[in-house]
Amino acid sequence: MRTEITDAARAAGRAPEEITLIAVTKYHPVELLDELYALGVRDFGENRHPESRDKANHLHERYSDARLHFIGQLQRNKARQVGRYADCIQSIDRLELVDALAKLERGDHGPLEVAIQLSLDGDSARGGVALDEATALAEAIAAVPTLKLAGVMAVAPLGAETEEAFATARSVGERIRDIVPDATMVSMGMSHDFRSAISQGATHLRIGTAITGNRPDRP
Ligand SMILES: *Cc1c(COP(=O)(O)O)cnc(C)c1O
Repeated sequence: MRTEITDAARAAGRAPEEITLIAVTKYHPVELLDELYALGVRDFGENRHPESRDKANHLHERYSDARLHFIGQLQRNKARQVGRYADCIQSIDRLELVDALAKLERGDHGPLEVAIQLSLDGDSARGGVALDEATALAEAIAAVPTLKLAGVMAVAPLGAETEEAFATARSVGERIRDIVPDATMVSMGMSHDFRSAISQGATHLRIGTAITGNRPDRP
């Protein structure tokens, strides 16, 4: 996987070191996370509470440098629970989540990293904020001292022009940097479209099956 990322980065004229691989381990047993850690993976993606909590606890008990990214749709009443263990929540797509997380106490952990999930297909059922509402959401996050806006996250729309959609995500990310200059994360690209994502400026890839093979059925 790393060789493929390096090749795609070079082809796009980018430095491979700018690109972080997040291994998406949803539905897999924790042993897989240990195996991936041993191979050098430090960033893990999970999409459902409480499975994500158990895996975060597993990682944090063992490895001081492992990070868990929550990438699934988030319900308001679970937001604070997820905020207690996640290192980054990438699926912030509405104000009510910001309000719920604003009340979070992080103890010694420091601010919680979050990213704004963009809707690239205008279908809010798949998660993500409408593009013209993203900057307002960024302003709301910037106003909460316990949250640190890392950048944007997006999933390519079904069937549409993937590269164009990723380019749109990147340009919304640039607008958000007018509000929070170090919100540099552009999290996009999955197993089947990571090359397009790299060519359009992704800083974080979320890759599952291309690393792990087929996922077990949803438990
Ligand atoms: C499952 C998932 C991925 C990984 O998808 P693959 O096709 O297995 O690489 C990436 N992002 C999100 C939001 C996911 O839910």
